[in-house]
Amino acid sequence: MVLIYSEPFERWKCTYKECGAQCCTEGQKVTAGDIRRIKDVTGKRPEEFADLNEDKGLFRLKGVDGRCIFIGEDSSCTIHKTGVKPLFCRMYPFKFDGIIYADEIILKLRVVKNCPGFGKGDEIGDDFQICIEELGNKFVKEIKDYLRAKSEGKSNDAIFG
Ligand code: SF4
Repeated sequence: MVLIYSEPFERWKCTYKECGAQCCTEGQKVTAGDIRRIKDVTGKRPEEFADLNEDKGLFRLKGVDGRCIFIGEDSSCTIHKTGVKPLFCRMYPFKFDGIIYADEIILKLRVVKNCPGFGKGDEIGDDFQICIEELGNKFVKEIKDYLRAKSEGKSNDAIFG
């Protein structure tokens, strides 16, 4: 389940060159599924790009000088076109606002403040909200899958493939 906290907005576009990709800081939260997909496509070992000290199914991307390890010199995301950009990065302009671990795992998202992309780009339709919810639900599912696999005694190596 996903809870989204946001004021309504009509248009948004990621203007990373304008803000210098302010969202792309070190330590972005990723799932085991994100790690597996990035590993498969880039050929990198998980420990090269992620901190594998997980917290209840959440991992973090590594960084350099406080910036995400995958950010390019022009502030673009170097894995954007590969199709394996982490689920959270595909939920911008919403950011992680916590997880409630109850009978059901609930992901909380909160809209980024002061993003220069508001008011730009195409008009936001219902499909935008549906897409964010789908990504959030996939994120929750991947956390559940990871926690289940660990409870069955699987190692991270087996889970990451
Ligand atoms: S993976 Fe890409 S979009 Fe996500 S924080 Fe890193 S550089 Fe930004």
